[in-house]
Amino acid sequence: MGSYNDTTGDVVDNGFEVPGDDAARVVRRDDAVRAAVEQGLLGPADPIVGLLDVTGIRQSAAALRAAFDAVTAPGTPVLHAFAVKATPLVPVLALLREEGIGAEVASPGELALARAAGLRPEMTVLDSPAKTPAELREALALGIAVNADNPQELDRIDGLILPHSPKGVGGAPIATSRSPLGIRVNPQVGGGSIEATSTATATSKFGVALRDEGAREWVVRAYQDRPWLTRLHAHTGSQGIPLSLMTQGVAETYALAEEINRRIGRRQIDTLDIGGGLPVNFASDATAPTYAQYARLLSEAVPGLFDGRYGLVTEFGRSLLAKHGTIVARVEYAKSAGGRPVAVTHAGVQVATRTVYVPGSWPLRIAAYDGKGRPKEGPAVVQDVAGPACFSGDLLAEASALPLLEQGDYAAALDTGAYYFAHHYAYNSLARPGVYGFVPDDAGGVAFATVRETQSLDEIVAESGGAHATSLTTLRAPKRR
Ligand SMILES: *Cc1c(COP(=O)(O)O)cnc(C)c1O
Repeated sequence: MGSYNDTTGDVVDNGFEVPGDDAARVVRRDDAVRAAVEQGLLGPADPIVGLLDVTGIRQSAAALRAAFDAVTAPGTPVLHAFAVKATPLVPVLALLREEGIGAEVASPGELALARAAGLRPEMTVLDSPAKTPAELREALALGIAVNADNPQELDRIDGLILPHSPKGVGGAPIATSRSPLGIRVNPQVGGGSIEATSTATATSKFGVALRDEGAREWVVRAYQDRPWLTRLHAHTGSQGIPLSLMTQGVAETYALAEEINRRIGRRQIDTLDIGGGLPVNFASDATAPTYAQYARLLSEAVPGLFDGRYGLVTEFGRSLLAKHGTIVARVEYAKSAGGRPVAVTHAGVQVATRTVYVPGSWPLRIAAYDGKGRPKEGPAVVQDVAGPACFSGDLLAEASALPLLEQGDYAAALDTGAYYFAHHYAYNSLARPGVYGFVPDDAGGVAFATVRETQSLDEIVAESGGAHATSLTTLRAPKRR
């Protein structure tokens, strides 16, 4: 066991969720890469795949449930809603559903995915900063929980559920919605090491900025005026946010709920949605921090949140999936430039967009495998691992020290189960790679299941306006006289 130095500077025991889980995951990953080559999922004709460790995903889901079970009063309703944006793949949502995990959705597309995975409305939460009237109407009609992002959105919800609201948004009101409704606040506790994923900065676009002048009073009054507002939501941010800051965001949200309930004189807010954002350790195979550590920290810092008076909703994304996904790409060519070896692979900006564009914030570990999919041995050589896209910055890793990659080998980008291969970027019309889930089989081998097929060339053409090939050549402005 190692230790993990979180960005607060505290060195904390990394406390594997279950001792040996992390080491076992590495063994399963190596076995899966070899089996993918042996079984022909990966090879010269299919030079890139995404692999998902089903065993590991189930373990993380169980660890999340156990962590909060251990600190909540018996009988406390807890909904863990997976942030669909982290891995928007229907079979993944269905797998998590079987593990008792719901869905946090933030667009009509994500809601459609959750519904396709069979998630019931009670297991679904809608948060997004730009919900249209039609989206709100659908969510309320389905009975999905909604967190209003801002006063204008709350006006729209008023119009949908209050029969005679002057602020009607069109159409008949949905007077009988079962949707639990809340407001998202931004506790403005500050940002972490990555600006783009810090959601609780002073000027973040999300939620009602609590420390702005008059905002807190507005929130309290919004609840006083609307007995049906029963939830309060905050999401302090994602990768790069230290646990201490996440905890502070939750503590401030809890304090606001207590204040609102006290001023109203009853427990109107009955559920707190504390968001997601547990950071993932991309530097090694250790799961750190763990759900157990975060839940313990929260229960020590905000004990009242766990005493059974409030139901809880969580919205973890990256931490549930990241360590269970691997991109494996064939080395098409191995060359040298300016004295540095460069492995040209099939994984680049199309599957690792953040890493390629902002490498300092999103470094990935690369593992080297030989042409048979076996871990590659040999002295570490500083080399670049490049992608297939036509710009020079398309590097999966720059100056990475690993066994020298040669033509026909495979490079694996580790910890890419969230926000990577499920987030295809259509640069150079590169195909979305196939994604396969795996488990060990009875015979010491590996069994695969298709999560998503490789995108075909016909699909690429169709999605690029193929059905409208002559639409522009036949569209003509009137001739000038
Ligand atoms: C992105 C997001 C999450 C999940 O964040 P992770 O860092 O992936 O855990 C949760 N809640 C909201 C509102 C989000 O936008």
